[in-house]
Amino acid sequence: MGYAEVSVNSPVAQRRTFSYAIPPGLSVDVGQAVWVPFGDKLLQGIVLELTPSPSVEETREIVGVIEPHPILSPSQVLLARWISEHYLSPLFDAVALMLPPGFERRAVTFIGSTPREYDVSSLTPEQRYALELVQSQGKVTLGKLEKALGKKRAQTIVSQLVGRGLAGRSYEVEPIKVRPKTVPYLNLAVTADEAQQEAARLHEKRAIKQAALLSFLAEQSKSVPLAEARQRANCDKAVADALVNKGLVTVQQIEVRREPISYQGITPSYPLTLSTAQESAFKAIQSSLLQVAKGHTSSAVFLLHGVTGSGKTEVYLQVLAEAVKLGKRGIVLVPEIALTPQTIERFASRFPHKVAVLHSKLSLGEQFDEWQRIRNGEFDVVIGSRSAIFAPQPDLGLIVIDEEHEWTYKQPDTPRYHARDVAIKLAELTGALVILGSATPDVETFYHAQKGDYHLLQLPERVTPGDGSLPLVEVVDLRDELKAGNRSIFSRSLSEAIAKAVVNRQQVILFLNRRGGATFVQCRNCGLVLRCRRCEVTLTHHLAEDVLVCHQCNYTMPVPQICPRCLSRRIKFLGIGTQKLEQEASFTFPQANLLRWDRDVTKRRYSHDKILSKFRAHEADILIGTQMIAKGLDLPLVTLVGVVSADTGLNLPDFRAGERTFQLLSQVAGRAGRGILGGQVIIQTYSPEHYAIQAAAKHDYALFYDKEIDYRRRLHNPPFTRLVSLVYTHTNDALCQREAERMKRLLIEEIDSQGIADLSVIGPAPAFIHRLRGRFRWQLILRGSELSAFLSQIPIPQGWAVDIDPVGLV
Ligand code: ADP
Ligand code: ZN
Ligand code: ZN
Repeated sequence: MGYAEVSVNSPVAQRRTFSYAIPPGLSVDVGQAVWVPFGDKLLQGIVLELTPSPSVEETREIVGVIEPHPILSPSQVLLARWISEHYLSPLFDAVALMLPPGFERRAVTFIGSTPREYDVSSLTPEQRYALELVQSQGKVTLGKLEKALGKKRAQTIVSQLVGRGLAGRSYEVEPIKVRPKTVPYLNLAVTADEAQQEAARLHEKRAIKQAALLSFLAEQSKSVPLAEARQRANCDKAVADALVNKGLVTVQQIEVRREPISYQGITPSYPLTLSTAQESAFKAIQSSLLQVAKGHTSSAVFLLHGVTGSGKTEVYLQVLAEAVKLGKRGIVLVPEIALTPQTIERFASRFPHKVAVLHSKLSLGEQFDEWQRIRNGEFDVVIGSRSAIFAPQPDLGLIVIDEEHEWTYKQPDTPRYHARDVAIKLAELTGALVILGSATPDVETFYHAQKGDYHLLQLPERVTPGDGSLPLVEVVDLRDELKAGNRSIFSRSLSEAIAKAVVNRQQVILFLNRRGGATFVQCRNCGLVLRCRRCEVTLTHHLAEDVLVCHQCNYTMPVPQICPRCLSRRIKFLGIGTQKLEQEASFTFPQANLLRWDRDVTKRRYSHDKILSKFRAHEADILIGTQMIAKGLDLPLVTLVGVVSADTGLNLPDFRAGERTFQLLSQVAGRAGRGILGGQVIIQTYSPEHYAIQAAAKHDYALFYDKEIDYRRRLHNPPFTRLVSLVYTHTNDALCQREAERMKRLLIEEIDSQGIADLSVIGPAPAFIHRLRGRFRWQLILRGSELSAFLSQIPIPQGWAVDIDPVGLV
């Protein structure tokens, strides 16, 4: 008898598998979904391994398979194990990342009869009733018997019947809630001539609308979707119903495919002639693809470092086409925000009908359809945000991660994986290549490229029209403005430049990485700053609704008329957010049309696309926004980008604050001068000498990297070590602190007793966000090299959140 190690869908299963015996006659494969008994329940599980002997003495049997074919590929099985071990997440949580949408369904128990002679008089009336019901229908659900006989009785009777060999149980997964999508079509039930005659009669009887619809249908050669017919004949459904009732028309439900990309209006595009730099990047990856195909080398990672507009995407497209020629397929990851029609269109037009898109906004039905079709090998390219790395793409040959430095690639909840690291692992397991693309690579990625772990490919220049040069950046010292008596949000330089651009019918982007109006509200009498009662974060004033909002937990309160502490009326709004900026800009530049783009707008009024197309159509002169506007958008009329305050992220207590600021400023600066008009960037700051700001102003990644890597080395931060953030959350602050201290002692004891030299514990300290939604948070940071292996031996109670390789420490 064979055995299977199964990852079971139960919270108590944690990071381990369970041994089950494979009953005779059942064939089970690695990656297959099965029903297994677990305690007194029947649960779903995924087979991760087949073994000749069980890992425990007593095993139970697998009850049945859920699907005839494996759901996870062998590489995905290994990947799930790696995720669970590396990120210390429950095994089934890691497995679940790769399951089809809507998979986690309940088992339905069916009762069937067995052909066997029996003496009817030996059955009780209830038993006879149940058995006859089962016999008459072939099989019925246990639920149906429970309804008829009561839950307890039904279960007892079924057990008795099964015990006597008269009935048997079988299990099926609950039917999926996703139904095929159907659309009603209208057909003529009579000939076209008859329909025209009838239409004429209806017309005489003044049933004008019915006549029009019938006449329209008579002119069509095939059936017409109801929606189209209604539109063309300008009538509502009741009119169609009337024709149906008269027996002139029939309605037929026709199944249509849900297609998340509309290929309407997308024309095929063809490979461009590559620039010299693009060509050499392309050649390097192409030759690696060939080597892998011949089995000469295994996977490899490329860092494609090139400023925005340097032609990275064109390289992705052409390399993907090469992979396809070799019988391979690709996955392309983009930050969520970049899943705009623009990006999708570029891939869809190069690979018509061969691109799958995985959006978080797709309905469950669409996700399910897309998943099935990907698994069937219908697409050359799967494009999506971080979770698309788990798409069941067969013959994986290439993984592209665009904007690889983006933090959205890190999953905030368990399993707290980083899609980039997962991609590199998956490539290693499948022999695929990875391309990491960025204008401002993550410092750790660049370090690996420098060391030779990754192949560094550079596209130093823009290929866009114009002179190809990057915009000029001016750094304005806001302290000088104050000295000169300018108290406005806009420095003299910036306001002159805005006025000039608007007069010349050019467009301006103003960037401020803070939403809302005033960013804090203070009593000028006693100094009290209003904070969220649950998070201790300062409350931000939102102008349109005139309320105070906590940006941490969304707690909202009206603006107090008097100070809650000293009862003074001198409540002042200080600091600026995008709403306030919009207001100031409308005072200062009354002739300009403004448009704001931040989470508050996209949540309520417009989608990203709407805002973008409005701005593109020049319906506004100035676009005001948060970091949303910093992403890869092509806006040729933008000649000026103003960074209203470069300092918002600089002072956070995180060793990545400098990197973050540099990335954001570089991206924002990359927005200007995409067209032939050229461009200019003005950065306002109180710390103009900071290396992140200096380097961004000079478009000089190397300048930034050299300084940054030097700090990282001296302060012993990644990539020279690894980190884990352990955060304990509790409603009681003192208890929270005590638990953090207890954990620290435990960790140190373990480190000492195992004699691990390179492991150290920092903290505990109140987390940067000390209080969130009414709960306190204390943080420990663990620094060292073999963190997952070490922590996997430590019992970590409920209430702790463990983040391996965190992207932010605040
Ligand atoms: P990135 O991804 O680095 O921002 P893109 O690939 O989007 O750069 O290229 C920027 C613009 O230049 C796009 O409009 C693209 O079509 C165009 N482009 C890219 N490569 C070439 C090329 N070799 N010849 C002409 N135009 C190109
Ligand atoms: Zn006060
Ligand atoms: Zn709050």
